[in-house]
Formats: sequence, C-alpha cells, structure tokens
Amino acid sequence: LKPFIVPIFIPHGGCSHHCVFCNQRQITGKRFSFSSLQHIQHQINQFLNYNHQKRRPVQIAFFGGNFLGLKKDQILLLLQATSPFISTGAADTIRFSTRPDTINETTLALIRDYPVSTIELGVQSMADEVLALSKRGHHAIDTTRAVGMLRKEAYAVGLQMMVGLPGDTEKGVLASGLKIAALKPDFVRIYPTVVLKNSALAKWYQKGKYEPFTLARSVTLVKQLYLMFQKQDIPVVRMGLQASTDLDEGEAVLAGPYHPSFGHLVLSEIMLDRVIAKIKKHGPMGDKLIILVHPRCTSQVRGLNNQNIILLQRHFHLHTVKVAGHESLSPEQIQLVTSK
Ligand code: SF4
Repeated sequence: LKPFIVPIFIPHGGCSHHCVFCNQRQITGKRFSFSSLQHIQHQINQFLNYNHQKRRPVQIAFFGGNFLGLKKDQILLLLQATSPFISTGAADTIRFSTRPDTINETTLALIRDYPVSTIELGVQSMADEVLALSKRGHHAIDTTRAVGMLRKEAYAVGLQMMVGLPGDTEKGVLASGLKIAALKPDFVRIYPTVVLKNSALAKWYQKGKYEPFTLARSVTLVKQLYLMFQKQDIPVVRMGLQASTDLDEGEAVLAGPYHPSFGHLVLSEIMLDRVIAKIKKHGPMGDKLIILVHPRCTSQVRGLNNQNIILLQRHFHLHTVKVAGHESLSPEQIQLVTSK
C-alpha cells in the first residue's frame, strides 16, 4: 500500500555543495528556515487533520535537502519533533534523503535511537567522470560504501539517479543503472536532468557548453532503466520531477525534458512496445482493432493525447483503434479483437 506522505521541505538544508543541475529554491519555491519543535509539530498535525485518509500507512518525509548534512542540533530538532508521531501511532515511518558522503559512523549513531525507517541517497550517477562534471563532490564508491552501512543497520534504502547529466551517454546511463541495481536498493527514483533557471547548468546551456537530452530521448532511456529495474524486482517509485506550479508554468525551467506527466509518458511507451509486439505476433488482421487490457492500463495504451492510437493507426494502416478495459485481464495481459 502506497504510504500517505506528510512532506516537510528542507530546501538546500544541510547543503554546502553546488551541483550544477541544482536549484532547490526554484524546485520547491521556498527556502527552509528552522522553526521550533512546536511549530513543526503544529504543521504536521494540520496536515494530518486536513488530508489523512486513515486506510494508508503514514510516512513523514523530509524532502529537498541533505538531511545528514544539517548541523547536529538541527537533525535532532527535526527527529525530536517528528518521533512522537510514530510513538503515538499517528504516523508509521520517517524518511529522509541525504548525500551518500554524509553516511558515516557519527551520523548513523546520531539517528540510531530515532524511528527512521527509510533513507534515500542522491546517487545521481555511478560514473565518476559524470559526478565530477556535475560537481557533485563525491565518488561512486561513496554510494557503494553508504549502501553497505545502511544495510547493516537494516534501513530501507532508496536510490535516486539522474539521466542526461553532463558527460552522460545512453551507454553510460544504462551502466550506472546496472551498478545501482547491483546494490539491491528497496526502490529507486529516476529523474531526467532539467535545466533550471539560476543553476550553473543554465549558464552552461546559454553558453552552448551543455545540451540537455530531448524529452523523447529521456523517455526512451528511462523506459530502458525501468524495465531493467523491473526485471530485477526493484520498484521504480518515481520517474520525472514532481510537478509544481513553478515548473508547470515554466517559471523554474529554462530547458530540457521536463514534463508534468513524465512517468506516464514512460509507461505509455512501454505499453506501445507491448501492443506492437502483440500485433506483429497476431498475423493478418482487419482494419478495425479493439485492444482489451486491465481497466488500470487503458490510459497507458492510449498514450498522452491518444498519441499511441494515432501511431498504431498510421503504422499498421488501421481504420479504427479502440481501447477497452476488462476486469478479467491482469495488467500483464493484452487481447486483440480485430475485424474488417
Ligand atoms: S543536489 Fe543536493 S547536494 Fe547538490 S546542491 Fe542540491 S541540495 Fe546540495
């Protein structure tokens, strides 16, 4: 069951780095300022009162910063503010994201007595030259070491990777994906690299020093990664940046493959490949086609703005292509009904 997330944004909190793609203030629209324990708890209570649907587990999640890079008293303030929600049963788990190079004996000892269940690492790439060009300030080995330490402490581990960073190639991205899969994370998130205004990448882009991957190239590459992770039973819990007003209205994005429904585009392309394979296997057919799938899959078969339908019509010279949901089919099944 997908957890109900109580988000706490700590944009750029705990970070003294300058990754070329990053502008946390632009992504979240506001800067983080440390408030009191009571203030954080009041915010969480308000969020739970207004939004909580009791059926799902509740996860308090710190987003947008480098959690273990915060000062010791700041880390403790955030954990002391949130832990009572776990002990009273109002929430079930605490999650944060942090840089791989912040995982060490000292930071792990600091959080050990608090009910943190999940730690996400901003891996971004497992290629050292890409990490260096992106000015990440850490190496791939830091990720390998950090995952090993988190595993020993029995944390659930999420790994975030990016696609289309400076120096990235398709081959390099897929190799990074394989190395990430080999670390056996509990889940991954995949983000296409978008040129955010006021980031270092924006300057490079304007000077012609960096060219983002196109949307089509990013979707196809993330599709390949998704299928590879799926094959290894590693859930991909997110593909593409979280949509926000700033991103959707173009306030924050200068260039690159941002799309509010990026994940849907990837899943639709996967479905298109599956339908094409099924049609090819089917052999001769009439010019009218009905595609039957599980009801949850119909929008993926259609694609955004019916793009898949149009493509199938053109490619296979079909007069009509209809999509229908059928409860008796599993999400893995596709049935074709064709007539003249
Ligand atoms: S991506 Fe993370 S580590 Fe890099 S500058 Fe932004 S907040 Fe800091």
